Order: sequence, then structure tokens, then C-alpha cells
Amino acid sequence: MDLKNKGEFGFIDLIKEHFKAPEGMLGIGDDCAVMPCGEGELIYSTDMLMEGVHFLRDAASPEDIGWKSLAVNLSDIAAMGGVPQATFLSIALPKDAQGEWAERFIEGYAGLSHMFNVPLLGGDTTSSLRDVAINVGVLGRVPSGGGLRRSRAVAGQGIYVTGNLGDSAGGLKAILNGWENTPEVLSLIRAHHRPLPRISEGRKLAGSGMVGAMMDISDGIASDLRHILKASGVGAEVYLDKIPVSECLKTVCSRHGLQAEVLAVSGGEDYELLFTAPQGIEDRLDFPVYQIGKITSQPGLRWLMDAQEVDMDITGYRHF
Ligand code: ADP
Ligand code: MG
Repeated sequence: MDLKNKGEFGFIDLIKEHFKAPEGMLGIGDDCAVMPCGEGELIYSTDMLMEGVHFLRDAASPEDIGWKSLAVNLSDIAAMGGVPQATFLSIALPKDAQGEWAERFIEGYAGLSHMFNVPLLGGDTTSSLRDVAINVGVLGRVPSGGGLRRSRAVAGQGIYVTGNLGDSAGGLKAILNGWENTPEVLSLIRAHHRPLPRISEGRKLAGSGMVGAMMDISDGIASDLRHILKASGVGAEVYLDKIPVSECLKTVCSRHGLQAEVLAVSGGEDYELLFTAPQGIEDRLDFPVYQIGKITSQPGLRWLMDAQEVDMDITGYRHF
């Protein structure tokens, strides 16, 4: 396999060719791996955060970086409908991060750990020449066969999200462009730095028996929804005018000449859940969900605005 121009996901496909998951396990390609364990199943996920790629040390507080390192991993457990059990932290620290920076990082990490009652049980610490590198692994549990996969979307189902999209992307733009810290801008920056994993929503959705496919939104739905479509062998239409967008994002976008909908679908790092289920389930859950589209048997992803198809060449974030 020639990796040139195949990108991040081409590399992952290559690894997958070498390591087919054994019978009864789910390997590469979903939010977590799934392994049978006693009565239920163990799920595991790991995510890496690199200075300069995922965060800038001078643009985020150490506490925020600690919080987010854990949040993005717990979000993958939420995406399967699982209950997090324990986390493991491996971290490489350059000299100028080995003192106060590291202490404050752990405070942020511990704050979110305590909120969700998930202990940190181990990891690894090394030095680094220049950049901070963080890798978090998280173990969770689901009942046997209860983990929600990306591969079970069915034509006719609605496509839903659990909350506003685009705030985090707006916050990142504000940080990178040094926008004035109005209350709206600060709210977007907070969404970028302190995402809340949708653990309880994920469990309830898994328990509802109504969900087809589910994943969390890390790269933006323009990229993430395509993973569900590919894994399930279906297509989709997405109603851009139905995507929930916060008032803060609308205000900030209109001030800076940006389209909130574009940030909402392509920005990423919202860590809301994206799932498919029968249409009209909004009243059957005790937390808000928003239908943003429909699964179709016709392959491909179509974008509609006020029922008119729009030509948008949007993809989400890709590392390479
Ligand atoms: P997510 O955004 O949910 O964390 P990713 O896009 O990072 O998912 O990864 C997609 C899938 O590829 C996951 O199942 C993940 O475990 C797998 N994967 C990514 N990188 C590697 C790697 N280096 N080795 C093995 N599996 C990998
Ligand atoms: Mg994920």
C-alpha cells in the first residue's frame, strides 16, 4: 500500500490490514475497542495531544489542557454508551513544564476525573526536548453487545446531535486571531478549553434501545458523519438550517464575517454525540437532542439549506 496522499486515515487502514480483530472483539475503526470480559465487555480508547497541534502552551492554561486531555478520551467512552472505569496518563515534559505547569495540568485533569468519578490508575512520565506530549488511555464497560457502534445506521433513521455545534471552533478562531474578549467570545473559548463529555447522555441512549449508530464529534460532522456512512454502507442528507448553533456563536460570527453553519459542520472538537435513531424521538428522552438530517439508502452526503441542496465542499479536520 502506497501511503502517499492517503493521509491519516490511510495510515490507520494500513495498520488495520496487519491487525484484524479476533472473533468476538471490535478493533480499529470505532470510538473504542471492545473486548469480552466476564458478564459484560471492556472498552478501551486512547488519544494523544501534542503541543503545537492540539494546544498552544501560551494560549491555554495548564488546567485547561489537563481537563481537555481527559475530556476527549471520556468522550470516546460516551460515544459507545459506556461507563468509564479508569484512566492512564503518559506524558512527556520539557524542562520548562516540569514544575508549576505540570502541577496545574494535574489539577485540571483531576477536576474532571472527580466530576465523573473516574480514577487515574497509572501511566508513564518522561522528559522531552521541547514540546509537551500527552497520551491518555481510558477503560470503560458496556453490557454484552451493548456498545454503540458506527456501523449500524439504517436508511430512514434520523440523524441527531446532543447539543450546539461550532462553539469550540469559534473559540479556537478567537484565540488564534486574538479577538477582543467579549462575553460571547469568552463563552466560545470556554467551550474550546473545557468540553464536557456526554457520558450520561451516551448511557441513556445506549439503554434506550432506539439508537442505530453513534459516535462523538471530534473532527466536525463533515468528517465524522462520513465515518458512520462508510461503516454502515448508507448515505445521508443534512439540514444545515437545523443544526443547533448557540447565540454566542451567531453573534461572534456576524461580527467577524463568518458563517456559523460552516464552523458548526467543519470545525470539530465539540464532543457532542452524533447518532442515528427513528425520527421523532425528541420527546422520548429526558435531555435535549436535535435532528439535523436523515440517513438515506442513496450513498454520499448531501447538504440542504431550507430544503434546497447546496454545493458545499466541506471536510472536517484531518491531521495529514
Ligand atoms: P477518535 O477521533 O474517535 O479518537 P480516531 O480518528 O483517532 O478516532 O481513530 C479512528 C480509529 O482508528 C479508532 O478506532 C482508533 O483506535 C484507530 N487508530 C488510530 N490510530 C491508530 C494507531 N496508531 N494504531 C492503531 N489504531 C489506531
Ligand atoms: Mg471518537
